[in-house]
Amino acid sequence: MAQHRHEPWHPTALRLPLDLWAGFSPGLSLGLPTSCAGCGRWETALCPRCRELLEAEPFAVEHADAAGDLDIQALASYTGPVRTMVLGWKNGAREDLSEVMARSGRHLGRWWAQTHAPDEVWADPPRGTRALLVVPAPSGVARRLRGRLVAARLADAVTRGISEQWAE
Ligand SMILES: [Zn+2]
Repeated sequence: MAQHRHEPWHPTALRLPLDLWAGFSPGLSLGLPTSCAGCGRWETALCPRCRELLEAEPFAVEHADAAGDLDIQALASYTGPVRTMVLGWKNGAREDLSEVMARSGRHLGRWWAQTHAPDEVWADPPRGTRALLVVPAPSGVARRLRGRLVAARLADAVTRGISEQWAE
């Protein structure tokens, strides 16, 4: 009876030279194929369709009763691939989304600043001081303890977008 002899699997056999690892995404560095952070499509960290979802025109959110009389704008609906991407970014599974999330935050800040001129925001400015606070929704305790202050990073990106737009 013929038997196939299988070599024991050694993870070290898959090691690549360090300079080759540098070009791979975090998913590949763990030995896993890369998949889209939104829809799960293989061989890409973020497919064009999911990227477009984060780059769409912001829109006003109606019926956000908890916000009282505040105007609410959103970049995307928190459903489907967008929800998957946001959750992956928030919990650290998709740290590779940090740059695209920051770009989305800047995009939202620029968009907001285009429709809110400084003179409108500070119609009656206090003496010599103008301040605009971008306040992130607080992260949960577990996320704060892990140092994953993603809402704060997003707020920083929104602030940068506002500053860039008003500086032009
Ligand atoms: Zn996708």
